[in-house]
Amino acid sequence: MAEQTDDKNNYEHFCSLCRRPESQTGKMIELPNDMYICQDCMQKSFDTMNNQVNNGKINFSDLFHFPNVSMIDLSGFQNALNQPKKIKKKAAAQDQEKKPALDLKNIPAPHRIKATLDEYVIGQEHAKKVMSVAVYNHYKRVATDTMDEIEIEKSNMLMIGPTGCGKTYLVKTLAKLLDVPLAIADATSLTEAGYIGDDIESVVSKLLAAADNDVEKAEHGIIFIDEIDKIAKKRNTNQRDVSGEAVQQGMLKLLEGSEVEVPVGANSKNAMVPMTTVNTRNILFICGGAFPDLENIIRERLNKQASIGFYADLKDKYDRDPHLLEKVTVEDLRNFGMIPEFIGRLPIIFTMQGLTRDMLVQILKEPRNAILKQYQKLLALDEVKLEFEDEALYAIADKALEKDTGARALRAVLEEFMLDIMYEIPKDDSIGEVIITRDYITGNGVPRILLRGQETPLLESAGTGV
Ligand code: ADP
Repeated sequence: MAEQTDDKNNYEHFCSLCRRPESQTGKMIELPNDMYICQDCMQKSFDTMNNQVNNGKINFSDLFHFPNVSMIDLSGFQNALNQPKKIKKKAAAQDQEKKPALDLKNIPAPHRIKATLDEYVIGQEHAKKVMSVAVYNHYKRVATDTMDEIEIEKSNMLMIGPTGCGKTYLVKTLAKLLDVPLAIADATSLTEAGYIGDDIESVVSKLLAAADNDVEKAEHGIIFIDEIDKIAKKRNTNQRDVSGEAVQQGMLKLLEGSEVEVPVGANSKNAMVPMTTVNTRNILFICGGAFPDLENIIRERLNKQASIGFYADLKDKYDRDPHLLEKVTVEDLRNFGMIPEFIGRLPIIFTMQGLTRDMLVQILKEPRNAILKQYQKLLALDEVKLEFEDEALYAIADKALEKDTGARALRAVLEEFMLDIMYEIPKDDSIGEVIITRDYITGNGVPRILLRGQETPLLESAGTGV
């Protein structure tokens, strides 16, 4: 019973004629059948009625039989019946939003953060574990605001991994799970202030925009800077390095925590735009990059070490080591061109693996919002079942591997094959099931089509044209 009252209080009525909510119209008059009418519309109806009486269109005795309500345009009610009866009270919705997203009790423990990441991100176990702990510590630090004698260090991160292995996806999933705003910036577009390109502080304005200009929310957000390897110190250059070393220098203060003046509701600073101050002390910075050639630097270092004295016979041991990247050290990153002060402000460094064939197949079918599940859902709306042979999935993974862009290629490959299916199937109501075969993917056959209620597969295209 209490629940019902609660529910009633949480919703507000809206006028069946003008559709405005009670919060705008003021108190409403209740009519039978759960309909409401606002004072304004009621007044208008009276006015219409008066006019009609005055013009002699209806006589007073008619009114006696038709109470006031009958003068209201009933066609309005017809439409009203098709509308949702009540809309949620704004105030109630705002109350919910006001709940702090992050208080100490609310921060999910690392194992819970990882479990949620597991639902979306395939493999990358080490990365998921490191990130879960780092994020947990970061927000614990934010929530307790421990800045006394034992200062907890900021958990800014550096993720190293080939393109399409899930770096951006991991960060996006994390931000969604924690319900914090996220800004994604590309380091290649950043230049030293005053030069053509986005200045470094623009990443903070992006975050502010992602937080709907709510400074407090933005100050607890995450900034992901992709392609961070592109701002490595340029070698052998005599010119000023405005998009490399200078950007790293410019980012130092942001990473550590400083007050930044950013425009509200715009990307660039100019006289017409109001400014606000954002403190980056509690913003979590995650940098990511593929760092091509880093493996060579690591290998060189390890081989050099191995060739000294005792380990001399192991000299070629690292030439084919698939886990070479995991052995990265700060020194290697410095040799790559990252300045020590910059790496020093990203205390959590971890690597991610390139995706294998098996992982690509898993990515196709297992994550919560897997691409296959999305297609299956789309066709299910047409009451058509969609199945993939396992061999077909491996064929798709092979095609994606050829493109060398990690999981990013999967969607493109699949879309190429699904286009015809999605175009042709809705034409024919008799189709009940489509099975994507390996032959279809390799270009040697057609998908198998089953008609509704039919058990045996029909090998021909059954009028689908695919
Ligand atoms: P990058 O490492 O280059 O930032 P992304 O995170 O943008 O790569 O990955 C591209 C897409 O590939 C993502 O949107 C996601 O759908 C998919 N993807 C990549 N890696 C994984 C993974 N490990 N698990 C699930 N999906 C993945």
